[in-house]
Amino acid sequence: MLNIGPTVYLAGSINGHKSWELVTTWRTYAEKILEAAGYRVLNPVRGRSPTDTDSKDIVERDLQDIAKADILLVEMDHEDKAYIGTAMEIRYAWERGKEIIIWGRANRESHWLKYHTHVRCNTLGQALEYLLKRKVRNECFWCGGNMVPLPDESYICSECGWRHKGMMQS
Ligand SMILES: [Zn+2]
Repeated sequence: MLNIGPTVYLAGSINGHKSWELVTTWRTYAEKILEAAGYRVLNPVRGRSPTDTDSKDIVERDLQDIAKADILLVEMDHEDKAYIGTAMEIRYAWERGKEIIIWGRANRESHWLKYHTHVRCNTLGQALEYLLKRKVRNECFWCGGNMVPLPDESYICSECGWRHKGMMQS
């Protein structure tokens, strides 16, 4: 079976939480659910710890991940967090035409956030449900058309022309 699902980057708050689990638990959960549905997932806390100090390393890997992703799934659930990095990630992704899906209670009144949001959900569960309704295997993510393999190992939708770099699943 072809695994041609879109790639999802798990954005949201990371620094300054009382527990590291608040940062990792929802991401691990989302990763499991989305990968089972055929998505590829880029988790920014992979290989990280709360004591990391190399800002350049952290920011640059995150930006590279976002450039590779099709979708930003964004946690915006803590009203006491500034979301400085998350806000910059959202704008960076938006400029590159990524789909931005936000879940959580925080910053609902922000005009800047509303402007850069394609889908807003109250909970992670709702955001995942929205993503799981999408067809991702062998069918075009956007229109449901047939994905046709190209010689350069990418795939193109016969209906809408959407291209995706695919991977053969063993
Ligand atoms: Zn299509």
